[in-house]
Amino acid sequence: MITPRIDIDLTAIEHNARTLVAKLSKRGLSVTGVTKATLGSPDVAKAMLRGGVVGIADSRIENLEALRDAGIRAPMTLLRSPAPDWADRAVACASTTLVSDLDVVDALSAAAGRRAVNHRLVLMVELGDLREGVMVADVLDAARRISRTRHVTLAGIGTNLACRSGVIPGDDQMRELSALATALGAKFGVATPVVSGGNSANLTWAMGTTPVGRVNDLRLGEAILLGMDPLTRKPIPGLRQDTFCVVASVIESLAKPSYPWGLRAQSAFGTVAAPRERGSIVQTLVALGRQDVDPEGVTPPAGFHVLGSSSDHLVLETPTRMPAGTEVRFSPSYSALLRAMTSPFVAERLVTASAGSSIAA
Ligand SMILES: *Cc1c(COP(=O)(O)O)cnc(C)c1O
Repeated sequence: MITPRIDIDLTAIEHNARTLVAKLSKRGLSVTGVTKATLGSPDVAKAMLRGGVVGIADSRIENLEALRDAGIRAPMTLLRSPAPDWADRAVACASTTLVSDLDVVDALSAAAGRRAVNHRLVLMVELGDLREGVMVADVLDAARRISRTRHVTLAGIGTNLACRSGVIPGDDQMRELSALATALGAKFGVATPVVSGGNSANLTWAMGTTPVGRVNDLRLGEAILLGMDPLTRKPIPGLRQDTFCVVASVIESLAKPSYPWGLRAQSAFGTVAAPRERGSIVQTLVALGRQDVDPEGVTPPAGFHVLGSSSDHLVLETPTRMPAGTEVRFSPSYSALLRAMTSPFVAERLVTASAGSSIAA
């Protein structure tokens, strides 16, 4: 089997989606499945849909187009505001776009008009993580403007926390989002049926006991794909973490000194700390590098240690010498998963445990 490759267990992904959908539905929340870390993989999207997500979302128009081309008919949301030049392609592949800029709204409106469709918009609100979203004081004006713009419908409001600054989504922010939804409806007659509370970082809040208020949907990628909570990078109970596995082959395995010799300056990727001198070790080289994964984000098998990396090599310490060609399996972090799935050098292999969930579903 070719390496490097990423083994994708669709059954595990489906299990994670189904488990989260069941837990969150008890709290009145639906789940939108986010595929961006898989380059918009149609197989992954289908596994999420089998697990009960109500729609698919991705940050890239190209990914949504690939999902449409693969025959997926579920509602699709564009997570990242398109540049105005991309508005035509955005309305062609997505039914909903998350927006925060009125020029983008106008571009989407014009594009929807040209296609004679109505495009749904979710207005993003900035609640402190300082990535996308209009400031709270400007939400009403922006919502009114959108509700008066032709060819677009204000489908709801949303927010996104944790991604840029690590701000923890909690009761304060979700209460504020709920209050905005209520105020828009009650005082100004602007209905916001969708109140999209955030991403996988919202799960601790969502699984808690405090009322969810008007929040009725979460956009989940990492939790479904890796079974991990992005705030702590700890496994989420009940979810599977064996969803993806990066597999690479040994190309050299020799006893070598642990300490480099000769005068030292920068390495290929900046200055590296001098390793500890600890005599001779077994150094094993695998054909996997920064062009394939984030080397900081791969966990090797127990007893193996990642010592260093360059564009195309990962340097491991292994308990014993390993024959060239031996496959070494790594579990990827979100960052390593993203790099592996978007690297042209990493092949994909689909794994399905049960015959009941056919990959062609
Ligand atoms: C990436 C993204 C998500 C999903 O994030 P996860 O942490 O993978 O759950 C949700 N919403 C927006 C706007 C995003 O960009």
